Amino acid sequence: MRTETSNPIPIDTRTRLVGLLGQPLGHSLSPAMHNRAFRILGLNYCYLPIEVADRDLKTVTAGIAKMNFAGYNVTIPHKIRIMDCLDAVDPLAQAIGAVNTVTIRNGRSTGYNTDGIGFVRSIEAVGGLSIKEKSIMMLGSGGAARAIAMTLAQQGAARIAIANRTEAKAHALAGDVNRQGRECCRTVPMEPPALETVLRHTDILVNTTSVGMHPREGECPIPEHLVHGGLVVCDIVYNPRQTRLLDIARQKGCRLVEGLGMLVYQGAAGFRMWTGLEAPVDAMFDAIGQNAAVK
Ligand code: NAP
Repeated sequence: MRTETSNPIPIDTRTRLVGLLGQPLGHSLSPAMHNRAFRILGLNYCYLPIEVADRDLKTVTAGIAKMNFAGYNVTIPHKIRIMDCLDAVDPLAQAIGAVNTVTIRNGRSTGYNTDGIGFVRSIEAVGGLSIKEKSIMMLGSGGAARAIAMTLAQQGAARIAIANRTEAKAHALAGDVNRQGRECCRTVPMEPPALETVLRHTDILVNTTSVGMHPREGECPIPEHLVHGGLVVCDIVYNPRQTRLLDIARQKGCRLVEGLGMLVYQGAAGFRMWTGLEAPVDAMFDAIGQNAAVK
């Protein structure tokens, strides 16, 4: 791995700024991850957490566009409303209905969503396989599921089956994915017999629910006996890193992909947009793996 430059990078009038807009931001890992990446490459960039109340979002984004910002990330609660504050929104982000990354070029702000591509890249880099032509079962239909399902369909997954506690939300998401052009998505009832039948023909199982997240670490989103050794199992929950689902999957001999991978690779996609350079992902993993917020 590359080591950090020994000379500290000066903060001066040429420093390119990048930020994270959200509220609250106390637990965010993104500042540590990006600032480490900038230091490793010796770039005069600085990543700032910027807490913004909903009522101030338009004023703050208009101000940022006039400053020396290369762009910013957006998180809860602004990922949807930010779209009203931008000059353009990329088609995939429009289909997802949320923006997590903004670039600023010549004062023009453009919104993207890198969550889904971050997930896909983490499967490729950490899981060692392509999602193309694969059968994928997703658990959950929330905001992260939406980004992942839309991107999986766009990137060539063969079949996507979605199961969710609230079945109507799974139907709505599957319908939206299919309306993007490829009829590759369907729903499955969140019931053991139906899940078991689909899992028999599934290559990749992805948990996008918050089940298993701190402080309810012991919980698994599906009955544990349904996990079988032929699956690649991904859990996008990253606190804790080792969820109950991943523990069970490890015991059954599955290939595993932790949620930190999605976090790092969505950040790497933004890093590339802001700097034009490939992100030093090893250093980014290192920066957040050592952070006390992740167990
Ligand atoms: P969200 O929009 O609130 O969606 C939550 C999902 O979890 C919904 O499908 C919900 O089902 C389901 N759920 C919640 N509690 C449940 C329970 N007790 N039993 C069954 N299902 C339950 O949240 P999100 O933004 O998509 O985030 C989901 C998780 O992904 C969080 O843990 C978050 O930290 C993680 N995440 C990770 C990354 C990463 O980079 N690794 C990025 C984004 C999010 P209903 O529809 O029935 O309510």
